[in-house]
Amino acid sequence: MNSFHNFNLKEYNGHKVSSTCRTAYFPQSEEQIIDLYKRNPKLQLIGSGHNIILTQQHYDRDFLILNNCFDKISLQTDNTIDVEAGAFMKNVSVFAQENGLSGLEFFYDIPSSLGGAVVMNAGTKEGETSKVITKVRYLDLEDLKIKEICKEKAEFQYRNSIFQNSTKKVVLAASFELIPDNKKDILKRMKDSKARRWSKQPREFPNCGSVFKRPPGKFVGPMIEELGLKGYQIGGAQISKKHSGFIVNIGNATGQDIISLIDFVKQKVMKEFNINLEVEQRIL
Ligand SMILES: Cc1cc2nc3c(=O)[nH]c(=O)nc-3n(C[C@H](O)[C@H](O)[C@H](O)COP(=O)(O)OP(=O)(O)OC[C@H]3O[C@@H](n4cnc5c(N)ncnc54)[C@H](O)[C@@H]3O)c2cc1C
Repeated sequence: MNSFHNFNLKEYNGHKVSSTCRTAYFPQSEEQIIDLYKRNPKLQLIGSGHNIILTQQHYDRDFLILNNCFDKISLQTDNTIDVEAGAFMKNVSVFAQENGLSGLEFFYDIPSSLGGAVVMNAGTKEGETSKVITKVRYLDLEDLKIKEICKEKAEFQYRNSIFQNSTKKVVLAASFELIPDNKKDILKRMKDSKARRWSKQPREFPNCGSVFKRPPGKFVGPMIEELGLKGYQIGGAQISKKHSGFIVNIGNATGQDIISLIDFVKQKVMKEFNINLEVEQRIL
């Protein structure tokens, strides 16, 4: 297992904020993960870091990073694929396509580990984790035992799941049930989806995707635009000029810049629209 002291998390958060932690661990197996939790129950777990905001310059605690490690993807006989928590979902999407299996096209352009995708019930209007997943294997931190839960019991909702409500469960792996289809057609859907998204999203600057969950009956971007906040900036953090639902790091943004900007937008939206915006990212 790789581990690094005084590790800079810059490449492990979507905003590319510079922030260090005491030690970062990159385990390769379930046994190593259990062993780490036995030694340190207070580990800070992250996946690929595309839905977190790092607010501290230094974390005097250890991080467990499940990204590009513990990342096996395997094909089963019944059009099912099993994926370990650290696998990057773009790779899973490509793996499914190469095996002529449809259902994970929407993941081609969502930057995510398997663990993060399950926790956040990641998805687009073309698909959602909960629609294709069948079961999740997890480590219960209450008793350090490995358990399985079927999708019906995982309390999946819009950008939410049982794993988000209880931080005492570490996603270890999941299975997806897919549908056989023509490889070329699958690839076309993946590429079309990516092209559509890149034409609208500010991918030229580091960001963590949509900042706020969509409130019922409203779209966040247009509300922010109506308030004249497109391009509004605090420190190195800016409301994207391309898509007002995104906050981008246009320079050396700190986590505090991002949080100040979020608070400012929330206050304005509350005042003008009487809507309490909910932040999609996990603030660490
Ligand atoms: C450009 C861009 C576009 C995006 N588009 C979308 C989109 O279309 N749809 C969408 O849903 N999201 C989108 N996102 C947000 C993000 O990609 C997803 O939320 C993604 O699922 C986060 O996964 P992650 O591995 O990066 O999680 P992290 O950010 O690493 O972690 C998120 C949370 O999950 C927890 N967690 C991570 N791994 C585990 C695990 N194994 N077990 C238990 N808890 C764990 C962490 O502790 C944290 O609380 C986008 C982000 C960006 C940057």
